[in-house]
Amino acid sequence: MQQVMRQTASPNFATQDNKKQLTILKKEDQLIYQQLDYNIFHIPGENPSNFLILLRGFLDAATLLGTNCFILGSGVQRTMIDCGDMYPLNMKLMDNLLTLMKNENFIINKLFITHAIPNHFGGAWSVIEAHQKLNVQPPTVFKHLDGNDYEIEVFHNTPQLREHVKHINDGDQFKIDEISDSLIRVIRTPGHRKDHCSFGFTSNVHKYGLQNILFPGDMILGTPSVSMDHLDQYINDLKRTRAMAFEKLYLVHTNGMDHADIVVDANKKFADYLDYRYNRLNNMIEFIESQQDLKDTVRMRLVLTCFNSHIEKLRQDGIIEEEFSEVHVKNDKLGFKYSLQ
Ligand SMILES: [Zn+2]
Repeated sequence: MQQVMRQTASPNFATQDNKKQLTILKKEDQLIYQQLDYNIFHIPGENPSNFLILLRGFLDAATLLGTNCFILGSGVQRTMIDCGDMYPLNMKLMDNLLTLMKNENFIINKLFITHAIPNHFGGAWSVIEAHQKLNVQPPTVFKHLDGNDYEIEVFHNTPQLREHVKHINDGDQFKIDEISDSLIRVIRTPGHRKDHCSFGFTSNVHKYGLQNILFPGDMILGTPSVSMDHLDQYINDLKRTRAMAFEKLYLVHTNGMDHADIVVDANKKFADYLDYRYNRLNNMIEFIESQQDLKDTVRMRLVLTCFNSHIEKLRQDGIIEEEFSEVHVKNDKLGFKYSLQ
């Protein structure tokens, strides 16, 4: 039994327009899709962490409730960001996507991929195939291609996908539909994974007002932090995108499916994430300082190994140095603290 409900509009949503209400479609209490703003829909990826862990081992424990997929635009040709896992893990997601396309009367014209982990990129071929079955033009898939192992795995499983994928780079801009000037902008954020992109979205449609949104992909999740490949680059990504002054973040992995779980205040979330990293680095400096006279080398080695990326960052920033295979805080950096300002 399908059940269409309406919820109160977000503060961004036009107050003077008739379409003040946001649509939520549920089936037997399961979310099929929901509208997060007048031109943004959310479809749950239906690939929560425990399911993935059972199926293919400890691939991406931070999937939380799954990959939130987003549809942008109001026209008959819209833009999608991330597309969930590969067939058959995405059968429910594809059903829900087709329901949304039918109910709102659109097709996907562009599909943007944050990075090649299969729960973000794996479903791309299914989205193309679904359009072919409907006898309509399939979307172009946009991804920063770098030939990493996950990318190879997805192309290996669905080789037909390759000819539909175009390479994107920092600063590339695209219109999200055929009726507005609203733009999606590629922002390279390689600290999390080398091929990772976040997507900025700006729209200023007269009757709806300004939207200034970041889709941060796996750079920022609904958890206090996230794993990353390169801490120094990752912190630079956070600082750079924070300086772009987005108003809202739309999160791809969350602990809940309510509007407030997915759409969060950008400033606060950036500050929380940077604070978390700076606290860890500050704790590390304090620990190394405290060990300078104690020479507890076993414990020191253990910490240096476990927090290798943090040690590397401290070394790069000139806070610590190594002498005779012992790590010290430099004399002129004693008491140094990272801070948001
Ligand atoms: Zn992810």
